Amino acid sequence: MKMFDVYPIYDIAPQRGEGSWIWDKKGNKYLDFYGGHAVISIGHSHPHFIDKLQRQMQQMIFYSNAVQNPLQGQLAEKLGELSGKKDYQLFLCNSGAEANENAIKLASFYNGKKKVISFKKGFHGRTSMAVAVTDNPKIVAPVNATENALILPLNDEIALEKAFKDEEITAVIIEGILGIGGIYEPSMAFMQKIRQLCDENHALFIADSVQCGCGRSGHYFAHDFYGLDADIYTMAKGIGNGFPIGALAIAPHIKPWHGMLGSTFGGTHLACSAALAVAEVIQEEDLISHAKKTGALLKQSLITLPKVKEVRGRGLMLGIEFDNPINPLRTQLLVEEGVFTGSSSNPNVIRLLPPLNIKESEVEFFLEKFIKVLAKF
Ligand code: PLP
Repeated sequence: MKMFDVYPIYDIAPQRGEGSWIWDKKGNKYLDFYGGHAVISIGHSHPHFIDKLQRQMQQMIFYSNAVQNPLQGQLAEKLGELSGKKDYQLFLCNSGAEANENAIKLASFYNGKKKVISFKKGFHGRTSMAVAVTDNPKIVAPVNATENALILPLNDEIALEKAFKDEEITAVIIEGILGIGGIYEPSMAFMQKIRQLCDENHALFIADSVQCGCGRSGHYFAHDFYGLDADIYTMAKGIGNGFPIGALAIAPHIKPWHGMLGSTFGGTHLACSAALAVAEVIQEEDLISHAKKTGALLKQSLITLPKVKEVRGRGLMLGIEFDNPINPLRTQLLVEEGVFTGSSSNPNVIRLLPPLNIKESEVEFFLEKFIKVLAKF
């Protein structure tokens, strides 16, 4: 057998990681300003993360959701504390797409309706309804295409109001900062309009926090910036720091029944330990404030650089837009200067998603390398 070749890959094989740094098998060292698609939140090989996982592995790795697992309750408590959503309920699964899939299903169970509103430049995953509400026709297979997905322009309140004339709207799903689309922020008025229309029409507000959550934006959920509560927050990526875990924080008015949702691997002992370790480190090292402060300083510096058209985003989730495609710039940063950055579906936008505990000296290192390659761009 060989691998099903779906990923365009760089000729680099990371072998070891520590903090914000990666070493490949040839011994080359790289600064990780991308965190493997926003996954690395507390840095590579954080000692508390490793210690907690190692101790858990020696005790119990997995048993099914048919028995008690006190780690799930501990995780629910900790995430409630960290996010401020203390009265929400936690459901655990394995990935971002699965979290969104379950959130949409939950909305439909809740109000008995079936159409979902999402937005241009949004990404919500590659499965069933998650991909149907994603703005990328290339990855929607005929079997996923459905009239139940309505993809509207971002920040267009009139289009949103018009769409809500349809009585079948079960939910609106939106990222707090649209990541893969190129780091776009919904306007304050638009987010509040979504909340208002959901309330008026008995629809649920699903806050896709898979990429922008876990403190990355300077708030635990990027949607908190808008001063509103969503009905469901979906999470993955950073909450496991590389251990695969997905989650839903579900508002108290949504009531569960046995069998409503389920997953074999959702919330295993090992997954809960990983997510607990991440949450503990975020809390103890005050990483949400650090992300806010460090991101603001980085943004200030980036705006002043030549050829930079615009810098968008908040905290450590930033997009830098140029007038030209950025691929040559990214490749040079990686191959010649040893710095990982991310692309987006806007070819002119570089995405920066470093670990939340990135040091000031590492930000300076990044800027030095970035300025160097910009001079040749
Ligand atoms: N939602 C958002 C905002 C994402 O960025 C992603 C992945 O990049 C997903 C959902 C899907 O997550 P996963 O790849 O874990 O299924």
